[in-house]
Amino acid sequence: MKRLRIFVLAALTLAVWAASAWAGAALECPDEVGQGLPFVVRVVADAGPGTAEVEFGPVRARVPLEQRNGHWEAPVLLGVDLEAAPGPVRLAARVDGPGGPSALEREVRVAARSFPEQRLAVAREMVHLTPEALARHEAERAEVRRVLADFSRPRAWGGGFVRPVPGGVSSTFGLRRFFNGEPRAPHRGLDLRGPQGQPVRTMAPGTVVLAAEHYFAGKSVYVDHGQGLVSMYFHLSEILVRPGDVLAAGDVLGKVGSTGRVTGPHLHFGLSVYGELVDPTPLVTGTLRPE
Ligand SMILES: [Zn+2]
Repeated sequence: MKRLRIFVLAALTLAVWAASAWAGAALECPDEVGQGLPFVVRVVADAGPGTAEVEFGPVRARVPLEQRNGHWEAPVLLGVDLEAAPGPVRLAARVDGPGGPSALEREVRVAARSFPEQRLAVAREMVHLTPEALARHEAERAEVRRVLADFSRPRAWGGGFVRPVPGGVSSTFGLRRFFNGEPRAPHRGLDLRGPQGQPVRTMAPGTVVLAAEHYFAGKSVYVDHGQGLVSMYFHLSEILVRPGDVLAAGDVLGKVGSTGRVTGPHLHFGLSVYGELVDPTPLVTGTLRPE
């Protein structure tokens, strides 16, 4: 009886081993990522087709395995929130392929970063909103949240990213701002220098999902590049695209301006990865290559 039990156990262990080793699936990721930065996770399998579901904190990304150089893989772009607590975060992947499901798990450590501070004296109405302005801002925020929470489009990005304007950085991502001594939300975007009217280009192929004039952001365009990646372009003097327009990388979508709550013309360039606003710098400088 005991021998039979051992046999059953051995057979079960073998079955589980066979199911999890069907394709030699692997999960590649960095050991450590700094606060506010995007990073790339790669699910690699030697058989396909199939899908991978990757979980990182509150994010759940479901992506297809693509055939490449004799194996199957799925690049997944993820991000760490600027104010995420430093420490280990579980990264898990479930791969469904020809041999059945396979579960993989890793740990990514969120590393603390320090960010510069900026203290500004500004007009009172820049800090305190009227009830009407506040109501308008709340409605616009809800609209933006809806756009950034839609991860249904397939991946259109790949093969590098375009800097939207050639100008240098005037305000970095993560800048901690104080208006008249009061702390404001940290800067979750990158301010790029550019003269009024300079063409603004989309960083990657994608679909325009929102083009509107918002209270803080002014004339704004949101481009969905698929697989959870949305780029944003604020304070435009002119919008040259409409929702539903399909853009190639580098297509002009508007012109640099100073619309919204700003003091001078510049481009605020933002990036959302599965709903987390992260620093676009590693992608447009080529230091992070998701493919
Ligand atoms: Zn900005």
